[in-house]
Amino acid sequence: MDRFSARIKTIHELHELHERPPKSFVQMSHTFLDGLIKVVVGDITAQRVDAIVNAANSSLMGGGGVDGAIHRAGGPVILEECKEIRRTRYPQGLPTGEVVITSAGDLPSRFVIHTVGPVYGQHAGSESDLLAACYRNSLSLAIKDGLTTIAFPAISTGVYGYPLHEAAAVSSEAIKRFLLNNGEVQEVRVVFFRDADADLFVQHQCFE
Ligand code: ADP
Repeated sequence: MDRFSARIKTIHELHELHERPPKSFVQMSHTFLDGLIKVVVGDITAQRVDAIVNAANSSLMGGGGVDGAIHRAGGPVILEECKEIRRTRYPQGLPTGEVVITSAGDLPSRFVIHTVGPVYGQHAGSESDLLAACYRNSLSLAIKDGLTTIAFPAISTGVYGYPLHEAAAVSSEAIKRFLLNNGEVQEVRVVFFRDADADLFVQHQCFE
């Protein structure tokens, strides 16, 4: 047994020790619809795809969570383009469920699609329609621009309070419907920060 495996024996032991396993150790990945959809654990900012999706807020001026991480890692170009979009197209802010696209600055992806998820409990029962619109409109904008690989975070499930198991059903249904009607997309990656969130998503998805 080498030094590494002697020190770190099993994921189970690591969980018991409340330690975070090294990234290479948790290559947890599920695929659906013949590999068209991948559920992965990782950082959305690290995804090398045509477009990553930002769980933005309507100001498009950055924020916490995914939004903050994307602006931090991508650099000032993204904010500059967002400001221009606000000035020219959405002076009142980007409405919930709508999407816009910017370049990706220093990120490994080529573009960032910004969408505004619903705040759970604040849309008089239309939260699920609005959440589905985020996914559908992001995919639609991507293929309109010839982008075929796209990575999503779990929109609205952080600060916006959408329970992950409910969001899993809504988002997976929206993605599946879109893919069934549009053959251009080559890969949809759904990215979770924590393995427990990815597991919960896999339990509640309706891809199949
Ligand atoms: P919202 O405001 O739409 O709720 P958040 O950014 O607060 O969006 O969180 C959305 C989800 O993204 C949460 O489940 C959170 O754990 C997850 N998350 C936060 N940062 C990252 C990241 N860098 N990569 C992937 N997922 C992330």
